[in-house]
Amino acid sequence: METKPLILIVEDDKPIQNFLRTSLNNHNYRLLLVEKGKEAISMAPSHMPDLIILDLGLPDIDGIEVIKQLRSWSSIPIIVVSAREQERSKIEALDCGADDYLTKPFSIGELLARIRVSLRHSQINSSNTRISSEFRVGDLVIDCENRSVKISNQFIHLTPTEYKIIALLVKNAGKVLTHHYILKNIWGPSSENESQYLRVFMANLRKKIETDPAQPRYLVTEIGVGYRLLDE
Ligand code: CA
Repeated sequence: METKPLILIVEDDKPIQNFLRTSLNNHNYRLLLVEKGKEAISMAPSHMPDLIILDLGLPDIDGIEVIKQLRSWSSIPIIVVSAREQERSKIEALDCGADDYLTKPFSIGELLARIRVSLRHSQINSSNTRISSEFRVGDLVIDCENRSVKISNQFIHLTPTEYKIIALLVKNAGKVLTHHYILKNIWGPSSENESQYLRVFMANLRKKIETDPAQPRYLVTEIGVGYRLLDE
């Protein structure tokens, strides 16, 4: 029998705690709930949750500090929950190793989708399953072995840099990637301030793979944060 995934929730806001508890109990997850960052840091090694949902504004220590401590020994997926006014912390959280984020208020649908993606990624990483070289979503097919991209069965020509970007997105499909992360991976560590570069490349990629580049179906913008290649 498959055991239900265990989720550690770190949240001090009662209404959000209740919302998370109700939504996740109805969807076959086991839950552990704590209100303080230090409790999360001390409980994670003994309970080994499959996923952590972490509020950034905690009563004792900063959520960012919790991520840093956890990431020093573990790759347990972390989904950050942030308030609207914490835009900057959200990006910092992702750059410190959080896997994804939700901005309050969020819907059950969004929450479940983020959890599914993060659990899927961590299972792939831990089981060492060879990821199929072909990525498919809707009419988009990317073959990482042949380095080919097709839309509705038509081959699309990409420049080498465009291909590098799409391959990075495919490797992290479903996850949000920050501008900083993409720039560092494609152009190297000195490129951090060149996000206008990235915008141009993304616009060109969209022209090639999207039916309506203004309303992307595959390559979505996470405003102020980065980009996400949808995988469902
Ligand atoms: Ca809080």
